[in-house]
Amino acid sequence: SQISDLVASKLRDIPDFPKPGVLFKDFTPLIADGPALGELVRDIARRYEGHIDVVVGIEARGFILGAAVAYELGLGMVPVRKAGKLPGETLKESYALEYGTAEIEVHTDAFEPGQRVLVLDDVLATGGTAEACAQLVERAGAKVTAIEVVLELAFLEGRKRLADRPVNAILTL
Ligand code: IMP
Repeated sequence: SQISDLVASKLRDIPDFPKPGVLFKDFTPLIADGPALGELVRDIARRYEGHIDVVVGIEARGFILGAAVAYELGLGMVPVRKAGKLPGETLKESYALEYGTAEIEVHTDAFEPGQRVLVLDDVLATGGTAEACAQLVERAGAKVTAIEVVLELAFLEGRKRLADRPVNAILTL
């Protein structure tokens, strides 16, 4: 589609970041391009208009897209952050990384009961981050309507980890 072509043309490959052997997909050229950012944000917003009550953005690039999509829909945005960053009372979820574990948090009172949530992030890799975020949203009393990512790295099989949650990726590699 047009939007996936646009995204593909604005992503940049950075070899050996953040460590040797990883080919990092860099979103900064996409975010820096006004018309491209606008098309991306409106594409995501249109898909969920009328179906969600709040947008969750995952630190850090999910904050950029999440706030923009929420604004476009006239909705609020809730941050899910790495452990130790949120000031209020939080719920915490741990998940396995290739080496070790990671922890993310959300404010205990972030949602009204039953609110319909769109979880938004830039990249779906192994799916650990997105699944942990979905668990947090549910523990906080809301419902995950969908998980949306700009880029899905299909060879890492993140969808398997997300079981039967609705997942949409604008571009799949
Ligand atoms: P996962 O938990 O393995 O699915 O990794 C997803 C998380 O790592 C997301 O929050 C992404 O922002 C980040 N991530 C993984 N690979 C890349 C990449 O190539 N570019 C940008 N972010 C990435």
